[in-house]
Amino acid sequence: MKGKVIIAGAGPGAVDLITLRTKYALESADLIIYAGSLVNPEILDFAKEKTRKINSAQLSLDEVVAIVNVAVADGKKVVRLHTGDPAMYGAISEQMNEFEKLNIDYEVIPGVSSVFAAAAELKTELTMPGITQSVILTRRAGRTPVPLDESIVKLAPNNATLAMFLSISDIKGLVKDLINAGRPLDTPIAVVYRATWKNQVIVKGCLTDIAEKVNNAGIKRQAMVIIGKVLNRDGDLSLLYDKTFAHGYRKTDIKNEFKGDVAIYALTEKGCAKAGEIHNALGKSKVFIPERFEGKYTMYNSFGYGKINDLLAENWKKFDAHLFIMAAGIVVRKIAGLLEGKTIDPAVVVCDELGNNSISLLSGHIGGANRLAKFVAGVTGGNSVITTATDVHKIMAFDEMAAIKKWKIKNPEKIKYLNSMLLERKNIDVLIPEGIFNKYYKDCKNIRLISKLSEISGDGAVLLNKKSVDTDIPVLEFTNKKYVIGIGCKKDTTDEEINTAVEKAIAKLDIGFEDIAFLATSDVKKNEAGLHKFASVNSIFLKFITKEDLNSIQTPNSSPKAKEEFGINSVAEASAIFTSRHGKLIFEKHKYSKVTIAVAILNSEDN
Ligand code: SAH
Repeated sequence: MKGKVIIAGAGPGAVDLITLRTKYALESADLIIYAGSLVNPEILDFAKEKTRKINSAQLSLDEVVAIVNVAVADGKKVVRLHTGDPAMYGAISEQMNEFEKLNIDYEVIPGVSSVFAAAAELKTELTMPGITQSVILTRRAGRTPVPLDESIVKLAPNNATLAMFLSISDIKGLVKDLINAGRPLDTPIAVVYRATWKNQVIVKGCLTDIAEKVNNAGIKRQAMVIIGKVLNRDGDLSLLYDKTFAHGYRKTDIKNEFKGDVAIYALTEKGCAKAGEIHNALGKSKVFIPERFEGKYTMYNSFGYGKINDLLAENWKKFDAHLFIMAAGIVVRKIAGLLEGKTIDPAVVVCDELGNNSISLLSGHIGGANRLAKFVAGVTGGNSVITTATDVHKIMAFDEMAAIKKWKIKNPEKIKYLNSMLLERKNIDVLIPEGIFNKYYKDCKNIRLISKLSEISGDGAVLLNKKSVDTDIPVLEFTNKKYVIGIGCKKDTTDEEINTAVEKAIAKLDIGFEDIAFLATSDVKKNEAGLHKFASVNSIFLKFITKEDLNSIQTPNSSPKAKEEFGINSVAEASAIFTSRHGKLIFEKHKYSKVTIAVAILNSEDN
């Protein structure tokens, strides 16, 4: 019976880095031909003692083939061991061609290549989102020439990671090539000599000093050179672990953490198509395109030539976000005159017409542009460009947390101080729900969860639902409470009289008109003009509750007059409790001349 050849990868050096398959092949081999100095001889110990072992370093191709041919004809199992993985610079094709000519049966077993051993020893990832998604495995010319089109100057003018085999002997020439290819001088380079061997040496530097360091270390051969920004390990967090990342066909899985209404504008035909793609994924949005594309995209709104400025002025406050599929420069010029301030401007996101980059341009946190940009990037399969400092450092900014939780910022002028303190790692005491603290700040050593105001001792503080504190340190205050005013009034009470009464009541509670979500009363008061006017002037929802609903509520106090007149047990208190979805009554009914007021805290998911 004829034997067989197994071409196997011996791995980079460490004995336990060969594959089990290679180990089994060695255990059952009759003859092993191993390739020189980079195959660890200890690996040969897996073979039986009587197995013949030949170092191929001194042999020509013909000689190797002749030895194999004889052994195979004799029914022997031959293992041809190559360093690392046989497919990389293993010169196995020429051997396989000869085996085929001679009708010699063979198979190939992969091995751990030195490029991956070096990456592991360097603890680096060769591909990193935000830096590069490519690795170029190559070499400089030596005795074997490299095609001109594959010179470093041709291959390297990008951010791809380079893994250079067989190239250490002229490190100076390599550096020159890299500079000629346009790689910046601070490009990191790592040289790993005999990766995973006991005498491994690692030298790290950049284009300006690596040659000298390698010379000082005396490294002239047997080294892997890895080049590229990935070595700094500061790319984006991997999108694979980012829940907003769209995996090819899973676009519907992308979570949209931006909740508002979006206006999408496009100027070109490709832009219109991209706008449509994003609109379909977003749902709550309107697309605006130039009139000339109207025929093709009849479902969208169009604007006339030169009319985009008017459109923007009209739309500016109507939408929570404006997404522009066009160059950022156009957008900056168009919106400049519309800007008012950090806490009121809508979110602005710019996306190029191929969807490669979605840039959060304005109102990243409070307006939610960062979240929208991430969602858009998820839809288009592109990058989101986020430049707010806290996000770059992967820290949850306080105003972003407030925006996500729908908390109101009582003193927005303090945001910048507290966010800077976050970045500067100053000590900040936070009085927020424990679950939220654990979600965002548990791992930040400088942020401390406190349970009462008297515990404040840091450089700054962040408080939720607390009355202002008397302290010299910067304090950022949030509120997430919304209140319901239950109201009863005599016939023909004016809006001014109502205003005075409400003002007096809420002053006692230290809340403002903007904290009032609803004004609620019995439906017998539906036609009371003063109530309608007061509600509309202050943008408060007015709700009318039926007798049945009001009487279903237990209240601390009752209202004998309403009972007598309308059969209703309680108006103000019952309206407040009912409308707040059984929230806590924090202010029992109080009479202010013609008006009775009670206040309850709105029960909602956000509280
Ligand atoms: N097939 C091998 C490469 C063979 S070419 C593999 O996959 O790794 C030989 C070159 O590989 C050397 O010049 C060196 O650049 C690299 N090399 C091989 N083993 C190495 C090791 N243990 N450490 C560093 N570089 C190594």
